Amino acid sequence: MPDQLHALIPRLREICGDDGVVTDPMGRRTYASDGIPYHAADPGVVVLPTSTAQVAAVLRLCADNGVPFVPRGAGTGLSAGALPRTDGVLVVTSRMRRILEIDTANERAVVEPGVANLDITRAAAPHGYYYAPDPSSQQVCTVGGNIAENSGGAHCLKYGFTVHHVTGLVVVTPSGDTVRLGGKAAEAPGYDLIGAFVGSEGTLGIATEITVRLTRAPQKVSTVLAAFATMDAGGAAVSAIIGAGVLPAAVEMMDALSIEAAEAAVACGYPPGAGAVLIVELDGPTADVDAQFAEVTRMCREAGAFEVRTATDAAERARIWKGRKSAFAAVGRISPAYIVQDGVVPRTALPRVLRRIAELSAESGIRVANVFHAGDGNLHPLVLFDDTEPGAEERAAEVSGRILDLCIEAGGSITGEHGVGIDKACHMPAMFSADDLAAMDLFRRAFDPLGIANPEKLLPTPRLCGERPRVAKGAHPLVAEGRAELF
Ligand SMILES: Cc1cc2nc3c(=O)[nH]c(=O)nc-3n(C[C@H](O)[C@H](O)[C@H](O)COP(=O)(O)OP(=O)(O)OC[C@H]3O[C@@H](n4cnc5c(N)ncnc54)[C@H](O)[C@@H]3O)c2cc1C
Repeated sequence: MPDQLHALIPRLREICGDDGVVTDPMGRRTYASDGIPYHAADPGVVVLPTSTAQVAAVLRLCADNGVPFVPRGAGTGLSAGALPRTDGVLVVTSRMRRILEIDTANERAVVEPGVANLDITRAAAPHGYYYAPDPSSQQVCTVGGNIAENSGGAHCLKYGFTVHHVTGLVVVTPSGDTVRLGGKAAEAPGYDLIGAFVGSEGTLGIATEITVRLTRAPQKVSTVLAAFATMDAGGAAVSAIIGAGVLPAAVEMMDALSIEAAEAAVACGYPPGAGAVLIVELDGPTADVDAQFAEVTRMCREAGAFEVRTATDAAERARIWKGRKSAFAAVGRISPAYIVQDGVVPRTALPRVLRRIAELSAESGIRVANVFHAGDGNLHPLVLFDDTEPGAEERAAEVSGRILDLCIEAGGSITGEHGVGIDKACHMPAMFSADDLAAMDLFRRAFDPLGIANPEKLLPTPRLCGERPRVAKGAHPLVAEGRAELF
């Protein structure tokens, strides 16, 4: 541990208490990585504050001494945004897990940043409400992490991403000042600083109190599973549904390889011989859902679906979702290693980009399984390879990078919901000009003039670029333990 950091420890103990500071090597090692373990570093010191005042005192101490800090929630991030600094302080929010208020009259919840996403829904459910953004990691990931990554989920097509559900924040800035942005009201005048903070990946400070919208639980939910011979036919159904003005809660698609993997893992019983399955979920008032249900079923058949299954109760719905929810983990069964990619394209570009991915796969001999949020064009290609085969990892990383290039060429983005972190910072120049990046850096510096807030994340740092491939080996431990579903 650098001397400068060592000298801060007595003061950190005064602020967070002895049990709120971790300095022993094994304790620090626990926090070495997030959801992608190939990016790992032991933090210099770990603090576990319990209040905004403690976070503010820690950040002020960091600022006074020019020491970097990294915020961390549950560490489920998939872009190494919470990768610690060996010369810095890792600020973990796991002891800030109080739900401060469920205010149904204003349809708001006020929570501390370490609250797990699903716990808001659990607290709101008895009142007939839920928290709509639903990352598949929602049992464990924190609301603070969701804010920082602007997380999404299967149902964000209709309900929007995290940014659409945050109305108020208490933020401790990198200088240690505490500011309040927004509140329970729907809108605040002036610059949209909440919009700026959401998705800032821990580079503008630490959110210590978060006010989110609560959404009324729908009267009815119905789910359709349609099987097609080809991805193009499935894509045509998606275009027809959206083009007809129907806004489903979720529209998800899987290709033949991911269906094969899901079938092998959980025997989900999807129609044999399907080149693509489409899952469409509708929710809302009973009369609307029933009318749209009939329309969606008809449009799927017209687009060429050779089998259409419908589910109107929770057990049937769970059966339909089973294959989709287990698809990512299931891929670990048909391939020893794989890269989890995350990119976005305009919905209309999906068929073209998927065809190019298939060509890339054929040219390189690297298999790619596609499981994705078809409704909002958010692709999650899984690039499969055998890590015992010499050169396979590099070829897979090459294909994975080319997929991001395809997304950019199609007018999309290098990330849909997992953020940039350190993992994708090197891809930012492919999407933004030097002037764009300089403007972003200026914006960041307005909050963090010393450059101590989660340094080297989000914006490219040349010396770090190209050092590591983006490889995930096997299923994530959370999935293996049954504590999270994958996408
Ligand atoms: C099995 C699995 C499934 C997943 N499914 C989805 C999915 O469906 N959709 C999706 O979008 N993502 C998904 N993810 C990715 C991940 O769960 C989300 O990005 C999540 O929001 C991260 O939350 P966390 O608490 O784990 O944050 P961490 O990983 O601890 O941190 C993530 C980032 O947030 C910053 N941060 C954390 N807390 C704060 C705070 N209070 N203030 C400021 N910055 C902070 C960190 O510095 C870091 O940059 C999945 C991950 C796994 C492992």
